[in-house]
Amino acid sequence: MTTLRVIFGDQLNESISSLSGTDKDNDIILFFEVNEEATYIKHHKKKIILIFSAMRHFAKELSEKNYAVHYIKIDDKENTGSFHGEVQRAIKHYQPQNIILTEPSEYRVYNEAKRWANDFNVAVEIRSDNRFLCSHETFKQWTQGRKQLRMEFFYREMRKQYNILMDNGQPEGGKWNYDADNRKPLKGQLSVPDTYHSKTDAITKNVIDWVDAHYSDHFGSSTPFHFAVTHKQASQALNQFIDERLASFGDYQDAMVQNEPWLYHSHIGFYLNCGLLLPLQCINQVEQAYRQNKVPLNAAEGFIRQILGWREYVRGIYWLKMPGYEKTNHLNAQRKLPGFFWGESTRMNCISQCISETHENAYAHHIQRLMVLGNFLLLAGIDPDEVNHWYMIVYADAFQWVELPNVSGMVLYADGGLLSSKPYAASGAYINKMSDYCKGCHYKVSKKDGELACPFNYLYWNFFIKNKATLKNNPRLGMSYRTLAKMSDEKIDLIETDSERFLNAIEANALV
Ligand SMILES: Cc1cc2nc3c(=O)[nH]c(=O)nc-3n(C[C@H](O)[C@H](O)[C@H](O)COP(=O)(O)OP(=O)(O)OC[C@H]3O[C@@H](n4cnc5c(N)ncnc54)[C@H](O)[C@@H]3O)c2cc1C
Ligand code: SF4
Repeated sequence: MTTLRVIFGDQLNESISSLSGTDKDNDIILFFEVNEEATYIKHHKKKIILIFSAMRHFAKELSEKNYAVHYIKIDDKENTGSFHGEVQRAIKHYQPQNIILTEPSEYRVYNEAKRWANDFNVAVEIRSDNRFLCSHETFKQWTQGRKQLRMEFFYREMRKQYNILMDNGQPEGGKWNYDADNRKPLKGQLSVPDTYHSKTDAITKNVIDWVDAHYSDHFGSSTPFHFAVTHKQASQALNQFIDERLASFGDYQDAMVQNEPWLYHSHIGFYLNCGLLLPLQCINQVEQAYRQNKVPLNAAEGFIRQILGWREYVRGIYWLKMPGYEKTNHLNAQRKLPGFFWGESTRMNCISQCISETHENAYAHHIQRLMVLGNFLLLAGIDPDEVNHWYMIVYADAFQWVELPNVSGMVLYADGGLLSSKPYAASGAYINKMSDYCKGCHYKVSKKDGELACPFNYLYWNFFIKNKATLKNNPRLGMSYRTLAKMSDEKIDLIETDSERFLNAIEANALV
């Protein structure tokens, strides 16, 4: 009897739970590329190329290992264009006794898969997703009895549970977190090692051609395309990061440099999120590099915290709070996303840099996403729906389980402080300290008011003024509100007038 084993585009690993126990003589491994998924949100071209090409390569690897693979390509004539339609066709064709899948990572697709048993009158087994290190149950248990769900405490539990960077039950080096050492700006002469470049083979070329022909109206450039699309390539990308960039990852984690999109980050989020890399593989290799004295502790700990801590934590929050989480809007932000987020001109050099790099690479590093783009969207009061839509489109690593908590929780404070104890609001001074963007900008970062003042400067205080009723009792914002209380009425007037002029201009789509 046949079992249909469904593999989604972000589950590309032979150790995935849905493949466990496969009977290679009888079971069918089903892959489908569907138009509905490529277009329900008009993903960046590079993201579609990455996923389709990686799916095709993984399916080929499985075939070469004698799995019976049934692969539906996007251009197959009979392709119905939806998960539902493709599962239905496969059931008709194979008459399976059951379907096995690993739980989809996004709530929307999970709900779709839950319907199959009923709709198709077939047994459906949904297995837990073993690409993650913390199960839904364990995360839920961790939340029990806690007033606040801070990532730092979750991370410490994960370190202990997996015995990572531990020394006789204590954190390696005596501290759990070396973040305070990880805030150096990077200015002056630079020679940053390049990011990983794969060679484009015939499979990838075919996908690029399809995407160029059929999704030409999607955001972003399809080429040059150099992402890894196989496990081997993704492992090479990881090794290259560990050998060439990890040592400086900690120090320069928050730095931003004009025309240097990649810096010392790992650029592996896309591979982790589609299964080409597994989290423990990355964590173990980085810990090993530290134990072999190849990299300092602040670099290894800083990196491991991102994967063992942040990545698992945001997934836990997502599944804990969905479906309501995508509707949160604690600060009642209502403005539309400005046109320059889609590539129209802006005179704000920091924003222009981060958006053009995003367009080109389907990538921006964390501080660009958080402290430039996100900070602007927070200060300008842009509607969380619009912001989430944008972030889901533009990054190759964007999947709702990780994008939504980062945007609604970390950036917009839309969840009212569940994920972050205070909004990450910052004036131009922060961007000037951590980057060299300001020196090439039309605006003056040192100016606080008037047409030439850096917009972040007045929008920052305007944000605190406008959200006073909601935020003034937050103990972590006491300093900001004390400073505001000492401001003269004249100064507050200037802030409000400048902000109104600027916000009206973005609403009118004028050049700002
Ligand atoms: C507004 C906003 C939106 C984001 N959207 C996404 C998204 O759609 N997909 C996504 O994977 N990450 C997202 N992040 C988190 C983070 O910015 C990216 O994971 C990271 O920039 C990917 O680049 P990298 O692989 O070079 O990461 P590195 O800086 O090298 O970090 C290593 C890895 O740690 C993990 N990581 C780091 N920070 C986070 C975080 N805050 N949450 C979850 N995992 C983290 C990622 O897997 C990342 O690959 C977002 C952050 C912000 C502020
Ligand atoms: S001056 Fe302001 S707008 Fe210009 S780059 Fe600096 S922070 Fe950005």
